[in-house]
Amino acid sequence: MDTKDTKKLKDTKQLKSHKIMKQIKDLYADLEKHQNKCKHKKATKEHKSDTGNWCKEDDRYWTIFSCPTCLKKWSINGSH
Ligand SMILES: [Zn+2]
Repeated sequence: MDTKDTKKLKDTKQLKSHKIMKQIKDLYADLEKHQNKCKHKKATKEHKSDTGNWCKEDDRYWTIFSCPTCLKKWSINGSH
């Protein structure tokens, strides 16, 4: 294999990666569109906390929501 072939091979590999990346991006956009339509009616809440810090003001509470319908996950600060 001469250097020209090596370069060509590298370009092809790079091209393939770029193509896959674009597909992933497109799929994520699709997923997001789909998730935006979901009402997340079955979303579950998981309360999280980081307490017992030396400085009380560093204590944090947050809630992680996850929807089994559309698989969206998001978090909100606070312990509601
Ligand atoms: Zn949902």
